[in-house]
Amino acid sequence: MNVTELARQLKITTSELFDKLPSLGFDIGRRAIKVDDKIAFKIIEVWKHKAKEEREKSRIEEIRGTAQEEAVAEKTKQVELPSLLTVREFASLLDLPVNKVLGELMKNGVLVSLNEKIDFDTASIISEELGYQVSSLDESDSSSEPQAQQRLESILSEKDENFTARPPVVVVMGHVDHGKTKILDAIRKTDVVSTESGGITQHIGAYQVHRHERTITFIDTPGHEAFTAMRSRGARAADIAVLVIAADDSIQPQTKEAIKIITDAKLPFVVAINKVDKPEANIEKVKQDLASIGLQPDDWGGSIMCVPVSAKEGTGIEDLLEAILLLADMDKEKIMADPNRLAIGTAIESHIDKGEGPVATILIQAGTLRVGDSLCLDNSLYGKVKALRDYKGMGIAAAGPGTPAKILGLKLAPAVGSILEVPSDLKCLEKNLKTHKMRQEKDFSTQSSAGESKALNFIIKADVLGSLGAIVESLAKLETKEIKIKIVSKGLGMITEADVLKAETTKAKIIGFHVKPTPNVSDLARDKGVVIDYYEVIYHLIESVQKDMADMKEEEVKKELIGKLEILKVFRKENKNMIVGGRVQEGQIKVCDTGIVTRDGKPVSSGKIVRVECAKQVVDKAVSGSECGVGFEGKPVIEPGDILEFYQAVE
Ligand code: GDP
Repeated sequence: MNVTELARQLKITTSELFDKLPSLGFDIGRRAIKVDDKIAFKIIEVWKHKAKEEREKSRIEEIRGTAQEEAVAEKTKQVELPSLLTVREFASLLDLPVNKVLGELMKNGVLVSLNEKIDFDTASIISEELGYQVSSLDESDSSSEPQAQQRLESILSEKDENFTARPPVVVVMGHVDHGKTKILDAIRKTDVVSTESGGITQHIGAYQVHRHERTITFIDTPGHEAFTAMRSRGARAADIAVLVIAADDSIQPQTKEAIKIITDAKLPFVVAINKVDKPEANIEKVKQDLASIGLQPDDWGGSIMCVPVSAKEGTGIEDLLEAILLLADMDKEKIMADPNRLAIGTAIESHIDKGEGPVATILIQAGTLRVGDSLCLDNSLYGKVKALRDYKGMGIAAAGPGTPAKILGLKLAPAVGSILEVPSDLKCLEKNLKTHKMRQEKDFSTQSSAGESKALNFIIKADVLGSLGAIVESLAKLETKEIKIKIVSKGLGMITEADVLKAETTKAKIIGFHVKPTPNVSDLARDKGVVIDYYEVIYHLIESVQKDMADMKEEEVKKELIGKLEILKVFRKENKNMIVGGRVQEGQIKVCDTGIVTRDGKPVSSGKIVRVECAKQVVDKAVSGSECGVGFEGKPVIEPGDILEFYQAVE
């Protein structure tokens, strides 16, 4: 066979063939014109085999490459979070715009500004919601709040011989106007016990009803804000959810949101199909829509209980309660707690009462809370329980697991979702408190020394969560590049001594919105030189902060180049002054405070320009293109060829 023919069959050139043959184990020499047919066929065979091998190899490599790419992509979706970080740092770790992160935080009820710190737990929930896999950067230094959660989790999960059944806790969720509030009212009305006691509506954030000698606790904050706040702190306060769907409106966006929250928290739930009294009610449509998102109703062969109700007419409410008890029975292993230990629970409502001061409703999750108990939050003492009230407003001496109780006597109104606990050792707590405070102070001082821009520090106290959020948000908007606004701490309730001390160490101003300090606190503030401002209107507060910012912004003085002189001659050179002559290259030359001598484009010295002369006459200025002499005060270093730059100060 001709070598050219062989090359053609292998779809390569003859020279390529000659190049490759030795590596395949054939040596026919580079000058061969013909090859033996037998050898030619062998070459073709080996060639094809080799080509196949190559193809396989590259395919494997391709797969390996994609796998690697995928692994890399997977990896970019991971984030390592420290125990505390600012929102800005958080956004940069996620590689997302800060606004998106702030929005996401806000959706979860966390109102913070860019430079405020959030804890690992909050950050990790947000990260997960944004599709990141979270790991902890420094497990050893976990902040105290996750500690409280972990404690709560372990207390709730470690069964001991004291474990007894407790009332199940139920949350009601669903789209706005689908009748959550009305259903909660209808359920409350069915309760003989509370109606007997006068039936006065006491909204403490939760109430209880009784059926077949059993008690059910309902969290009656409509909407899922409270629940979301609790979840954002990792607490699992509720055992069962009621998903309300209006029969005339079916599944709506907030219904889907609620379903996501319920399924993420793995809560058993029952669907209350409400408003069945309406002529346009369509129960089947609701069931169809549920089935279409994978929630098959039980009468359609699935596992989702659906109870038609009319909150308006009070029909179906008994069935709904039966369904809740059934779910509770199915989960009874989990709905247990130890009533004999020190109490621990989650705040489900809190506000400042005009007459009673800070009040909070705590849902006891384990143990029994008694009048006289001390309560702490986040390792700091939060006050002593002066009085306890049940959901009917009646004074009680103690509240056990699964029971909501309104607490009077707290120093501050805790944030919804915070975990409150009766400390086992007050002395130890006080010690903790000190180290905690020291750590915080250290934190702030490093913050202020690290920042190169100026910052105004504030401690904000307000009467309600809504105002607090609005204030924080508005202040964040005032922040400029030059002046940062740092909210050192914020909270609900009166201004305390602790606030004043913190303000002193962090050089913060305290802002009270609808809240005032006690006389002692005012005195302390005066002693420590801490400023406390009060406002009733957010607008006034903003105005005053703007004024503070304006005061802080020193009149910045800049230097502006007014002209350049090319030095042609040195007339006189003395110890501290010179007279030089040159040509005005650009701008104008006049007496000024700053003249900079540059040589080869680099500044070498500077001084004052005290006199300008043209043709031996002192003049106000010399313009571009003219020749002049100038009196220079400064180090006598000017040489012919240098450029003298003239600067004047501008505000
Ligand atoms: P929420 O936003 O889910 O708390 O809804 P509400 O409980 O405030 O109810 C929204 C509106 O629907 C109110 O005007 C109620 O009177 C009305 N509503 C609630 N339940 C029913 C019901 O069973 N039947 C009818 N016809 N109207 C109802």
